[in-house]
Amino acid sequence: MPAKKTENEVTEKKETKKTAAKKPAAKKPAAKKPAVKAAPEVEQVVEIAPAEEPAQEAAPAMPEPRRSVAFIGSECYPFVKTGGLGDVMYALPKALIKQNCDVKVILPRYKCIPQKYQEKMVYRGSFMMDLCADGRSFYVGIMEYVWDGVVYDFIDNEEFFSAGNPYINLIDDIPKYCFFGKAALAALNYMNWIPDIIHCHDWQAGLVPVYLRTLFEGTPVASAKTMITIHNLRFQGIYNIPTIRYWSGLPDYVFNKDALKQGYEDANMFKGGLAYANMITTVSGTYAWEIQTPFFGEGLDAHLRYHSGKLRGIVNGIDVDMWDSSKDERLPDPYSKDDVIEKKKANKKALQEELGLEVDESKFVIGLISRLTDQKGLDLVNSIIPQLIDGNTQFIVLGTGDARYEDSFRYYENAYKGSVCSNIMYDEGRAHKIYAASDALLVPSLFEPCGLTQLIAMHYGTIPIVRETGGLKDTVDPYNMFTNEGNGFTFDRYENGLLLDAINRAKTLYFTAREYWDQMVIRDMEKDVSWDNSAKQYRDLYLELKP
Ligand code: ADP
Repeated sequence: MPAKKTENEVTEKKETKKTAAKKPAAKKPAAKKPAVKAAPEVEQVVEIAPAEEPAQEAAPAMPEPRRSVAFIGSECYPFVKTGGLGDVMYALPKALIKQNCDVKVILPRYKCIPQKYQEKMVYRGSFMMDLCADGRSFYVGIMEYVWDGVVYDFIDNEEFFSAGNPYINLIDDIPKYCFFGKAALAALNYMNWIPDIIHCHDWQAGLVPVYLRTLFEGTPVASAKTMITIHNLRFQGIYNIPTIRYWSGLPDYVFNKDALKQGYEDANMFKGGLAYANMITTVSGTYAWEIQTPFFGEGLDAHLRYHSGKLRGIVNGIDVDMWDSSKDERLPDPYSKDDVIEKKKANKKALQEELGLEVDESKFVIGLISRLTDQKGLDLVNSIIPQLIDGNTQFIVLGTGDARYEDSFRYYENAYKGSVCSNIMYDEGRAHKIYAASDALLVPSLFEPCGLTQLIAMHYGTIPIVRETGGLKDTVDPYNMFTNEGNGFTFDRYENGLLLDAINRAKTLYFTAREYWDQMVIRDMEKDVSWDNSAKQYRDLYLELKP
């Protein structure tokens, strides 16, 4: 049976290729038109033109085929966001709508979602669903909210989603996301909304492709193809086999070493999803390559090498409506690329005043906006702060996370009063102000699947200083002082000396050749970091999966 389907797919693909091949031919006459004007011998040209013109008319533009996609993931701005996944779950569906896609986003209805959104949700229905191996069943409610053309369906169940935070600990999270994965598919069947593609995100949606090809086989939703996106391979949803077998209710045969089984006694929800999905994507080309190596592979490098034929890298973008410095209401002085050089100074002074830093527009201000974890290269940052603060430099950090980083940044704020400010908090508004007020933004990560902060920084005319890994390598071109090209400053090996050197190169340009620095600021603001290009690539993959 599957062989037949492949044949059909091949035939359809060939036809699409033929049509695609025809298109450039139709465009040819247009390309020749300038020649018509330039050529002195009109007769020659007239002979060619009528022969080719009808061909141009005969090939009307093919309407883009429409695809329906269900996004399944654990967080989405503005309802709940802990990091970049929340941004992507918000911005990519919006960008896909422009690419002729119907998108439904399926999320847990966490209690911590702000009341103003909870109030707008509309009850779509409810049912009881078997979940566990012993047949225990649970209530599944569907609450819907339509916003900006995207339909958000929230899976409701107080037992699983009533904590104050989306992620608590694995003992709670494993049952929660077993339930969520199965309930999301059951909800699609219940609503009779059968998408072409089910696009799953990270380990929390890892069981969806597994459920689809096992317990949901033969139900309407099984006609969908699945894609799973790795936003961060560090988190995989690993627990002992009996626990995951009990909560998921999945058949024994999926707990084999090629699918869910990991080591001797554990099951890995992400690993299962990667095995069963029709296509795997990750959020940059470099990370797609890196995760196939032992250092970045988090124990799944061999599994990913085995599945590399269906693995692709597509770099993230940012929502340029949400991140628009010219309309940003959170900024004291919004600006565009035409007045960035002057207005940045005003934003800098306002933030210095607000944060109790020495108010001086000539200081070189470095920002850092990050989860405070080992991944983000904060041990490097901590070890160089004393060399960084030299009387001309200020450092502003915004983040929460590991106590040792929170404490050390608090210590430095005390040690260098007026030059260092540590904002140990999660605050969207303050993040916007730091992006606008800083001259440079640090992203010295140990590994970085894509990274959004360097993209936001460039869009706000703030020069990124990054380590050449994952998406940082793919999105920041190192500054070349000989050609005056590039978008930021980079370093390769994970060493504090190299980070300091990159910062010093940035400072040198800033203090000794401001004209070139300012040109880079404008160049960065002009760089296309929107979702348009990447959304097209996702759409093309959807078409590849469902020709
Ligand atoms: P990750 O997903 O690994 O946390 P990304 O760079 O992909 O890192 O995305 C981080 C996102 O979270 C960015 O939008 C950034 O502005 C935001 N962010 C991180 N920490 C904070 C914070 N403390 N306050 C506000 N926004 C934050």
